[in-house]
Amino acid sequence: MSKHMRRDERNQANKSLAPPIFQTATFTFDGSDDLAAFHSGETGAFFYSRYGNPTNEAAERRLALIEGAEASLLYASGMAAVSSVFLSLLAPNARIVIPQESYRHTRDIAEGLLTRYGVRVDIPAENTAVSLEALPDGPVRVLFAEIPSNPTLRIPDIAKMAEWARLRNARFIVDSTIATPALFRPLEHGADLAIQSATKYIGGHNDVVAGAVSGSRDIIDALREQQALLGSILGPQEAFLVDRGLKTLELRVRRISDTALKLAEFLEGHSRVSRVYYPGLESHPDHARATEYMSAFGGIISFELDGDPEIADELVNVLQIPVFAPGFGGTESQVEHHVKMAYADIGTEGAENRGVSAGLIRYSVGLEDFEVLRDDLGEGLKKL
Ligand code: PLP
Repeated sequence: MSKHMRRDERNQANKSLAPPIFQTATFTFDGSDDLAAFHSGETGAFFYSRYGNPTNEAAERRLALIEGAEASLLYASGMAAVSSVFLSLLAPNARIVIPQESYRHTRDIAEGLLTRYGVRVDIPAENTAVSLEALPDGPVRVLFAEIPSNPTLRIPDIAKMAEWARLRNARFIVDSTIATPALFRPLEHGADLAIQSATKYIGGHNDVVAGAVSGSRDIIDALREQQALLGSILGPQEAFLVDRGLKTLELRVRRISDTALKLAEFLEGHSRVSRVYYPGLESHPDHARATEYMSAFGGIISFELDGDPEIADELVNVLQIPVFAPGFGGTESQVEHHVKMAYADIGTEGAENRGVSAGLIRYSVGLEDFEVLRDDLGEGLKKL
């Protein structure tokens, strides 16, 4: 299937090339015959923006092409996408298996919310991002994975996990926010649904919070019906930004990945750096799998410095180019001392219990020139 939009697939309203932003809550009808025609499904018209909006539909069509999916659905955030998928597929006593190293709030939803509704949440002690042996026996309704995982960028064996799920009649859900559909398309490897925090590389400019789910038309239709009830829709302005981001996604992610690989190599060779986690490096435990699955290795590098974990603070403070901010995937490089930025509420010990080391620095590479980022890191490391 081509990921490029053909002429006849484009939004044709007034021959506008960019999709118009339909900033409307509701849609009008000519009279009761027109309303009846709408309800019979003859017109394909819109009704009320909680049920659908043409701007969102344009972005969803583009994302579906890029994900290789029958259909996609936008959400108000990545978390809205994750929580809605969980709510739609799970019920009391159903079991979900999620890896230890999942995005922390995905884990929080599972442990904090799903358990309240009687869902059985299984987080194997061993990181199931990698080890199939850690997966439990018995019936499972949902198997969840992230590619690459966050923050140590492990690459799960997606094909084997898909087979494992298929044999148990479980749904296999893959959050590929960090890989993006430019580098890895989960549905082509047996996943039932691919989830994106479109806030990251898809939006790509740190100016929109959005999420998306892609998969078969049946599952997406069911999620759309549920979304009309739960109300977790994306506004049309944001949908426009997602659509615009999708147009340059591949270009940005490839350039970012090229720079990230060179920076990871630079860091690995630096005497003050004790460990670098980047799937493009041969030293990464999943390098072979990353090479098999991904067409480039993405924009996130995690690393640790030689010495006391607190030294991570010193480096993030002296760097001049990357912004010191939560999140990743934008045009500007971003850096964070990960436990302090993302685990402040549960502290270093809580983060370490979840497998995140105290001194870990997460660096999201942006579109700046490699030499500029390298020199900034080199100067910063010299000052420690
Ligand atoms: N999934 C992953 C892998 C993430 O990194 C994030 C956010 O960082 C999310 C989901 C949640 O996305 P959002 O911030 O758009 O709600």
